[in-house]
Amino acid sequence: MTDKELAELIFPNIKKTIADYEKKYPKRALTDNQYVTRFAPSPTGFVHIGNLIQALLDYFLAKSSDGVFYLRNEDTDTKREVDSAVDKIMEVLDYADFKPDEYEYRGKIIGNYGPYVQSERKEIYHAFIKELISMGRAYPCFCSAEELDIMRKKQEAKKCMPGYYGAWAKCRDLSNEERAERIKNGESFVIRFKSMGNPNRRIKYDDLVMGIIEFPENNNDMVIMKSNDLLPTYHFAHVVDDHLMQTTHVVRGQEWLPSVPLHVEMFEAFGFTQPKYIHSCLLLKQEGNIRRKISKRKDPEALMTYYIEKGYPSEAVIESLMTILNSNYEEWRDNNPNASYLEFPFDPKKIGTTGALYDLEKLDNISKNIISKMNKDEVFDNLVKYTEEFDTDFDAILKKDVEYTKAILNIEREQAKPRKDFACWSNVKNSIWYMYEELYHPDNYEWMKITDMDEIKSICNTYFNDYYNESDDKDTWFNKVKELSESLGYAGNMKEYKANPDAYKGNVADISTVLRVSLTSKSQTPDLYEIMRILGKDEIMRRINNL
Ligand code: GLU
Repeated sequence: MTDKELAELIFPNIKKTIADYEKKYPKRALTDNQYVTRFAPSPTGFVHIGNLIQALLDYFLAKSSDGVFYLRNEDTDTKREVDSAVDKIMEVLDYADFKPDEYEYRGKIIGNYGPYVQSERKEIYHAFIKELISMGRAYPCFCSAEELDIMRKKQEAKKCMPGYYGAWAKCRDLSNEERAERIKNGESFVIRFKSMGNPNRRIKYDDLVMGIIEFPENNNDMVIMKSNDLLPTYHFAHVVDDHLMQTTHVVRGQEWLPSVPLHVEMFEAFGFTQPKYIHSCLLLKQEGNIRRKISKRKDPEALMTYYIEKGYPSEAVIESLMTILNSNYEEWRDNNPNASYLEFPFDPKKIGTTGALYDLEKLDNISKNIISKMNKDEVFDNLVKYTEEFDTDFDAILKKDVEYTKAILNIEREQAKPRKDFACWSNVKNSIWYMYEELYHPDNYEWMKITDMDEIKSICNTYFNDYYNESDDKDTWFNKVKELSESLGYAGNMKEYKANPDAYKGNVADISTVLRVSLTSKSQTPDLYEIMRILGKDEIMRRINNL
């Protein structure tokens, strides 16, 4: 029996050939300098920050070269699949504003190279496997899980390389007659790739990050099609899909690096051009003296839901990842404060190979900086986009009087050195709640030096009845606080106070603090002059009377 006849026996209904598919998906009308990249997550229900780094690299390479960025759903591992996982992936891409040019979502296919969901591409994979069997480069393997387990244990005991190769590969040299017989008898089987590699020979492979790496050739007859669902394994789907979809650059996790020799051999077996690879860096977390891999079980920030639920602007997350990817990014950013990150002259060789420290404090700083540069309308729009989804009560309060809210958001904003107090949108409520009557129920006045309530009330009543005038400009306002201080026996000038502290009950800062805490209950707030103007006299008096 020939290999071709065996292939026909296994796939009698597959009539299309590789050439048919290559015709169906013609060469993309792109030059060599326009890259085609894909984000290819498995729908496990989690999108990890490491996935976002990959998507960022994909998006960056495609967009900065005027190429194509597409999304592929790698759902061949049905055991790990979770409902709504695809929604989560779309949500993350939407959050990051990485809009794929080609994708498939809720039954709709956008793009000419689909389906973009692997479980819908079974026939395509089968056509490729059928030809591989016909070429004598793939074969059915009937070994059971138990047999393979015994094999693994023997290999371990004998300190042999693990894998299905050489004398261990029991089904590799079966005759086609025996194979046919066993298939006809209904025995279950997987399909394995027939490797011609020899681990004593080495291959050179040019990784975009790591440069030239040498590996022993692959000699492992890897499973390329599973027995239960007849779906391909990752390795095989990678070869077929990235060939047909014409991916130029594959960005994937470092865990795939050891599989490169297998992938090289499979691409060669078909005579296909192999894409270039970026094996992206591991993200590490500092814990005491050690650095360990960021983990979705231990670290909430490992998952993208963390950033979305806290309301980090995606620009901040992207910016922090760019600083991780290329160490000269920050310097470039300092020199190009308003440029899009897509303009950065990115160099894959500068991606760290050993793992990069991921630091939430740094993200906060980047984010505070980004938010501080937004004008009040941008802050408002972003904030309510967040509250609409995550805090509807606060949302209603913010929108009750939009101009009032914008005035609050504008305190110490739209100026040369804006205040940097919000790292994410969920921070805002904690910073401005006291500006809203509905939320202002102080249970802890943060009095500082002056704590006597009679003194406090007297300071406030004197100030608001005799001094405060809503139409005063800031200088007049401050002079009046000084005057008040002096009239009550507090130093109006810090220098004078420091020269002779015993001559005073305290100083103007103590008086300002009393006014601040009386109105907000907080000892630290943004500009008090602005707070008073925005609250207005009626609300001020209500708060003073409630002291
Ligand atoms: N589905 C694979 C994963 O999630 C993708 C690897 C790749 O991008 O090739 O690891």
